Amino acid sequence: MTKVALVIMDGAGYDSVVSECGYLEGAVTLGQARRWKMHTATPSLSGPMYETIHTGLWPHEHGIVSNEAVRRSSSSNIFSLARAAGKTTGAVAQEYFHRLYVDEAWDQLRSVEHQDENAHIQYARFYSMEGYGSINAVAPAEIDLCAQTTLLMERHAPDYMLLHTCSADTLGHTYGGDSKEYRRQIWHIDNALSRAIPVWRKLGYDIIVTADHGMTADHWHGGTTAAATEIPFYLFSDAMAPAETEELSQLGIAASVLALLGIEAPEGMREAFITPKK
Ligand SMILES: [Zn+2]
Repeated sequence: MTKVALVIMDGAGYDSVVSECGYLEGAVTLGQARRWKMHTATPSLSGPMYETIHTGLWPHEHGIVSNEAVRRSSSSNIFSLARAAGKTTGAVAQEYFHRLYVDEAWDQLRSVEHQDENAHIQYARFYSMEGYGSINAVAPAEIDLCAQTTLLMERHAPDYMLLHTCSADTLGHTYGGDSKEYRRQIWHIDNALSRAIPVWRKLGYDIIVTADHGMTADHWHGGTTAAATEIPFYLFSDAMAPAETEELSQLGIAASVLALLGIEAPEGMREAFITPKK
């Protein structure tokens, strides 16, 4: 049993991450991490994929089929199951996660800081996307999000900690998935993680770095192309997992995180591909 930190790099497709993320790829070369190619569910949209990652269900099953359909999650998910098992949860994430997993209306001026021991997400820092992307403003900066994550880890030691960055998605929509601006932003995430991951490992975390979906050259995602549906999955852990030559399904993330946390997956949730070392 371990603590798990899950990093979702919004909109970061497989090819761009492998080509730009020198820290993550170096960790793979050195055997500190393993990396697989992963396939998303569809539609390859953010809200639906956040819920798929956390429930192990297709959008057609959990009901969040569109960004315009984001509402409180009605399925068993990593946060609710971790809480039911007496675990501690935390998140640094965009507002959609508040709408999905916090049973309160989003308050623009107050919800950025969240602490409620009885909620599914107990300790969180949320951000909105208002204004980002409109005048080339990107963000929040990855290193600041990593800092908030570290703060919550050191203060509350969440058994499950989510970090969600949005900047690659914003740049992808602005400049396209085959642009230098998009690739540069993915490198910025890697550059921030290079300083955070060693600290989080020392704090006792197994770490997963993945994405919700990729980005097409048409500045979009939602469909079935490789650019939209092929994402990376990095694992910093000594847990057992398939050979890295295998291609994984995003549907298996939820049960895999639960397996690392020592929690049994509920019926309907797709099977785990990770087994903790005994
Ligand atoms: Zn997007």
